[in-house]
Amino acid sequence: MIPAGFEYLRADSLDHAAALLAERGDDAKLLAGGHSLIPLMKFRLAAPEALIDISRLAELRALEQVDGTLRLGAGLRYRDLEFSPLVREQLPLLAAAVASVGDRQVRARGTIGGAVVHGDPAADVPAVLLALDATMVLRGPGGQREVPASEFFVDFWETACAPDEVLVEIRVPALAGRRWGFEKFRQRSQDWATVGVAVQELPDGGHAVALVNMGPVPLRARGVEEALAGGAGAQAAAGRAADGTSPPADLRADATYRGHLAGVLTARALEQAGAGR
Ligand SMILES: Cc1cc2nc3c(=O)[nH]c(=O)nc-3n(C[C@H](O)[C@H](O)[C@H](O)COP(=O)(O)OP(=O)(O)OC[C@H]3O[C@@H](n4cnc5c(N)ncnc54)[C@H](O)[C@@H]3O)c2cc1C
Repeated sequence: MIPAGFEYLRADSLDHAAALLAERGDDAKLLAGGHSLIPLMKFRLAAPEALIDISRLAELRALEQVDGTLRLGAGLRYRDLEFSPLVREQLPLLAAAVASVGDRQVRARGTIGGAVVHGDPAADVPAVLLALDATMVLRGPGGQREVPASEFFVDFWETACAPDEVLVEIRVPALAGRRWGFEKFRQRSQDWATVGVAVQELPDGGHAVALVNMGPVPLRARGVEEALAGGAGAQAAAGRAADGTSPPADLRADATYRGHLAGVLTARALEQAGAGR
């Protein structure tokens, strides 16, 4: 449980971080809260030669609403979102989901940028951002580019963020007053989700439904969304929660049980969001 040796570099600014990353290439990793990266290094699943610490960069901690969009700096910690009146009002689904992550210590250190770039399908925030139709803003040697959440999560622990790019911010359409639901099943109170479901009512009255831990990436439950759009009730729509998914099997649950959980949790989250009535 001791990581391989590495060089520690502290970035003074976003420009400095980008320059260090460009210079060190694949040998370096950005360090935000360290709650995913350090365990990986301890298990020797990652052995970067250098860590570039971006945890103190104020430039990565923007939290503001511009027109109808919330701009969330990648360096915001879970607790910044959990206790933000703006996020609670405009994106209550996100506020509720981050409040359910790990324990207080995890929420005090872990960042949304780290959670998103790590790309773990069992993480809560990536699925919620998928339901919220978020956009990731990446900065690399070629300048800045935007990637929609629907294209960002590529495979297990793999995202569209290239090794020489920094995730700068996440843009999310504001959704004040719209109903939502969030459910997750876990064996112990601070465990990761065995399965989770996020439901968001959209401005046109439709619903976006996203699943945690039902495949190698966070997934939209398209079968449920189609059933709701066709006038199905919550229970009937939830019956399609596992359509098109490929849930993992592990010590906590096999794929069949995860499929069952997805249906049960989706029905509850749809009820919470007032969908399918
Ligand atoms: C005890 C425990 C319980 C947990 N429980 C949950 C849970 O219930 N639900 C849940 O969803 N998660 C859970 N987590 C995971 C936690 O949410 C993530 O570890 C955390 O959010 C990752 O963020 P970080 O800032 O720690 O990232 P780091 O570990 O610092 O980085 C993760 C990866 O992202 C990269 N990275 C970080 N920031 C950027 C950036 N701005 N641009 C580009 N790349 C970047 C790093 O290089 C690294 O590859 C838990 C973790 C622990 C340790």
